Amino acid sequence: MSIAHIIGAGLAGLAAAVKLAAKGRRVWLYEASRHAGGRCRSYLDTELGCRIDNGNHLLLSGNHQTLAYLRQIGALDTLDGPPDPVFPFIDAETGLRWTLWPNRGTIPWWIFSAKRRVPRTRATDYLAILALRRAKLSATMIEVLDRNDGAFRSLWEPLTVAALNTGADHASARLFWRVIEETLGRGGAACRPLVPCEGLSETFVDPALAWLRVQGAEIRFGTRLRTLQFALDHVTELVFDTGPIELSHGDSVVLAVPAAVAARLVPALRVPDAYSPIVNAHFRCAVPAGSPYFVGIIGGAAQWVFRKHEGLSVTVSAADRLVDQPAEELRDLLWRDAALAYQLPVHPLPPARIVKERRATFLASPRQLLRRPASTTQWNNLLLAGDYVDTGLPGAIEGAIASGFMAAEHALELAGTPARTSAHWPAPDVSNTPQER
Ligand SMILES: Cc1cc2nc3c(=O)[nH]c(=O)nc-3n(C[C@H](O)[C@H](O)[C@H](O)COP(=O)(O)OP(=O)(O)OC[C@H]3O[C@@H](n4cnc5c(N)ncnc54)[C@H](O)[C@@H]3O)c2cc1C
Repeated sequence: MSIAHIIGAGLAGLAAAVKLAAKGRRVWLYEASRHAGGRCRSYLDTELGCRIDNGNHLLLSGNHQTLAYLRQIGALDTLDGPPDPVFPFIDAETGLRWTLWPNRGTIPWWIFSAKRRVPRTRATDYLAILALRRAKLSATMIEVLDRNDGAFRSLWEPLTVAALNTGADHASARLFWRVIEETLGRGGAACRPLVPCEGLSETFVDPALAWLRVQGAEIRFGTRLRTLQFALDHVTELVFDTGPIELSHGDSVVLAVPAAVAARLVPALRVPDAYSPIVNAHFRCAVPAGSPYFVGIIGGAAQWVFRKHEGLSVTVSAADRLVDQPAEELRDLLWRDAALAYQLPVHPLPPARIVKERRATFLASPRQLLRRPASTTQWNNLLLAGDYVDTGLPGAIEGAIASGFMAAEHALELAGTPARTSAHWPAPDVSNTPQER
């Protein structure tokens, strides 16, 4: 039987492997490092004395491809979150707190309810977002929305940064519109926040590896792809640092490595080449039971604070202004916001770990979006997967998983197996997450 060779065990590679194995294909998965998960994983921080996630990853119930992936690997019940689409916020400058609470249905009557929308905004402030629908491909958020509009500072700007990891002055208006269509556009039912009960690896990675092993997939860690050998229209050989593997007729290759690595391996491949950093701060401290899963901060240095088993974890996306600051300064700065959000004393500063990801995702600017390649290549057995591939989605979990599914569908077509469309892939069942059972 022909083999699907998948290079890279981040979420894109895992999703491709899962989809191909689910269709009965033989899967070999190669990963350069000693662990899977790539930019979405958990590990033991020996200094802090607990397991931490490399970054806080927030999902929404409208992330259908991700939920389908989790259903396939039997990990849906590893997600947790509030039963309703509620987003608690605090303004760090004024101390004002509110909860954004879209109603479940598709008619957004919540914008007419002062209790559910951002304080000091009017319903009409929310309608301004409709202008994104007709935005030019080249337009940034700031070119379409008015910075002085009521909802901009407290809603659209923070959501843009969170969803695209790009500031509003660089972020593509059209890409953000796509996010709105998939989430708020489908009503609050698609906006329920979901977080891993334990950690990223326990939700996205370990169950996938276990499921793939049961399907007979071969998984090789510590196996870095050095080069690909090409004939005119297909790849003939994979050269790993552990040795070469010659491809047979019908074999396919899904290259699920980061954009910069793919560009080194594939001749003349154009990929996004500007990145945006994320800074995370993990604080080991006691958090009162019943505190919110997360709190959004407006006007602070921190943007989102998440409650974890072992303490609080802070995320700063599009963190260009913070990424070069020394860790000690970041600890003080970000703990002040975290303590404010969860009403904890500012002193003493708890044990902390700062994690900086300089290349967390590609910069979601209109120019960079034009550099996203298709999944298919000029070599008929070589497919690309990764959050940078042109899925029409941001560089995030949903985009990475969608790219893996897309590459797998092409590989199935190549092998002559009729590919299932997304509609036939296990239907996303938003209600089957733990808090609604
Ligand atoms: C700090 C942080 C916070 C984030 N927050 C969110 C969030 O809240 N919500 C969200 O949806 N997304 C978030 N993201 C983005 C999300 O994590 C990524 O979009 C996604 O994990 C990318 O997956 P990938 O498989 O495309 O790439 P990667 O995770 O980079 O996987 C690529 C894999 O290929 C391997 N590899 C590289 N070179 C080779 C080689 N030559 N041979 C073999 N293997 C190789 C790597 O080791 C890696 O395992 C965040 C990212 C970061 C860094």
